[in-house]
Amino acid sequence: MKTSYHRFSWFAGLVAVVLVAAGCQSPRQACCTMPGCAAGTALSAVQTKSSQAAMTPQSALAELQAGNARFVAGTPLHRNFPAQVQATAGGQYPFAVVLSCLDSRQPSEIVLDQGIGDIFSARVAGNVLDEDILGSMEFACKVSGAKLIAVIGHSNCGAIKGAVDDVQLGNLTSLLTKIKPALDAVPAAVQPRTSKNYAFVDQVSEANVRLVMKEIRERSPILREMLDKNEIGLVGGMYDLSTGKVQFYDK
Ligand SMILES: [Zn+2]
Repeated sequence: MKTSYHRFSWFAGLVAVVLVAAGCQSPRQACCTMPGCAAGTALSAVQTKSSQAAMTPQSALAELQAGNARFVAGTPLHRNFPAQVQATAGGQYPFAVVLSCLDSRQPSEIVLDQGIGDIFSARVAGNVLDEDILGSMEFACKVSGAKLIAVIGHSNCGAIKGAVDDVQLGNLTSLLTKIKPALDAVPAAVQPRTSKNYAFVDQVSEANVRLVMKEIRERSPILREMLDKNEIGLVGGMYDLSTGKVQFYDK
């Protein structure tokens, strides 16, 4: 008995090492058992009421950071999407709401490696704020229990360039007007202030994210109260189109 126990514990230890090495030991990373999965490949479970309740603003941010790291490394979690559709049909418990640009190169679920029911995703050119986006964030946090609001702009943003160039085009004109205050927030020493100056454009993008974060606080008493009570977090960041990396801001 002693020998077989030792054999078992040795084998179990080996399996554990393999699983830890493959990254499928955490609660959200069970091992994939589907045909075609290599041994120890991580498989993502869907968010549940209890897994959402167990998250904090800090752990929600850590998950977005980890997801982007997986995306950049080319090691996304394996997801059985039809199974995730079935598992989430009765309800949703996303842990974050992400506001990002319409840009086709910045799909939030993909670049943050999230699955069905994991995040609320609001996308609009220039990741600008309006009362509909604010209302959506209030729904996501106050009604649906999301723990984090992330505002993520991106490098070389066409909407930011449009605002810099004062583009006038149908309804786009009023959208770009929402970005204009970010131009003034960039120090006058940054020259030239044209869309050809990528450094200027990216500084306007960052200023735009920070202004949107400030506006979320100012224009939504509901979200402000939740932020003050640390029930939710608010973070800004920038997605780099050339590397796939999201740099989240410290403050
Ligand atoms: Zn953009």
